[in-house]
Amino acid sequence: MHVDSKCLHAGYAPKNGEPNALPIYQSTTYRYDSTEHIGRLFDLKEEGHMYSRISNPTVAAVEAKIAALEGGVAAVCTTSGMAAILLTVLNICKTGDHIVASAEIYGGTINLLSFTLKRYGIDVTFIPVDSTKDEIKAAIQENTRMVFGETIANPAISVLDIEVFAEAAHECGIPLVIDNTFATPILCRPFEWGADIVVHSTSKYMDGHATVVGGVVVDGGKFDWENGKFPELCEPDVSYHGVSYTKQFGAAAFATKARCQLVRDLGIAPSAMDAFLLDLGLQSLSVRMERHCRNAEACAEYFENHPMVEFVNYPTLKSNKYYELAQKYLPKGASGVIGFSIKGSRDNAIKFMDSLELAINAVHVADARTMVLHPASETHRQLSDEQLIAAGITPGLVRFSVGIENIEDILADVKQAFDAI
Ligand SMILES: *Cc1c(COP(=O)(O)O)cnc(C)c1O
Repeated sequence: MHVDSKCLHAGYAPKNGEPNALPIYQSTTYRYDSTEHIGRLFDLKEEGHMYSRISNPTVAAVEAKIAALEGGVAAVCTTSGMAAILLTVLNICKTGDHIVASAEIYGGTINLLSFTLKRYGIDVTFIPVDSTKDEIKAAIQENTRMVFGETIANPAISVLDIEVFAEAAHECGIPLVIDNTFATPILCRPFEWGADIVVHSTSKYMDGHATVVGGVVVDGGKFDWENGKFPELCEPDVSYHGVSYTKQFGAAAFATKARCQLVRDLGIAPSAMDAFLLDLGLQSLSVRMERHCRNAEACAEYFENHPMVEFVNYPTLKSNKYYELAQKYLPKGASGVIGFSIKGSRDNAIKFMDSLELAINAVHVADARTMVLHPASETHRQLSDEQLIAAGITPGLVRFSVGIENIEDILADVKQAFDAI
């Protein structure tokens, strides 16, 4: 099946007479005929659901769908994108370890890596998104356990050279983790370019309707965890009667450890209802992404030609620094998210934002509806104009998340908002 068809059919295959829609298994627990059977589940000797903090049939169907979309061997859903990133880090890093990350990533991830994890002794080095292989390798230390970046960065809208990052990581014996939230598996599948683990905030395009905060970790199944740097994945886990994840679960060692050890201990499993809603979103993901891309291309071109706009960040514009990388990694389009800056003071941007009628002012992106955010007066409001510019954010920067409405309505709204300035 092509990826578009997998959006509808992967993960759940009802048999004769069974419900066509994915059932919502609203149950915390599962019945078994014998204590001996439950004992085998506890020892991970047999597959099955024990308790919904660890796994649930509705959630499992969605996990199987997302694993199929990305081309991975297994996936683990979590209660948020941040939980998915935390789960990934904790699954391979412990106190004293180190992470190399692209500097152009989501602000929440920067907070997690720079402050929260640092308090627990996990250190980070940020490197430019455009780093060469040698520059990436120079940042990797003896204790580095992963390299991290975003396919399309939020909010910088830069494109990561996944192959270069993967080669640098692999030559040092560590995995590349890619946050593929903005691209989705419709536009880019990082495993095909050498990534080892893919994470998502499913709260964005995958859900698409702004109904459920969620995340997912997908295991590519190809990384060699037995190279000596990851003993926790290979040596017996005393909390599971001495299971070795690599020996017992092979390609799915990473995902199995993440679920059975850490989702169990951290309590970050989503509910069946949330998984059901995510599945509804996934069913239309490919058609929505196509429309998001075409609408965003039209908007980016309009912004680029507008006399009140000082610059536009959108990777499929010929003038964009990431045009070549976008042609390689994002041949179907570069998602619906555009950054552009309105000339003059921050008041001009505020006037533009407040004049929009169709586009929604919200702290959200990557939704079916067009949404706008003004970093200078919202997410980054504590910074002075000088600090904003140092952070790569101009006072007039608008993050414009193009929805799937009719393009003429979106452009008419934008035009009347510019006229209001
Ligand atoms: C939103 C976002 C996150 C965090 O996801 P939540 O679901 O809000 O926790 C992580 N990475 C990227 C790229 C995001 O856009």
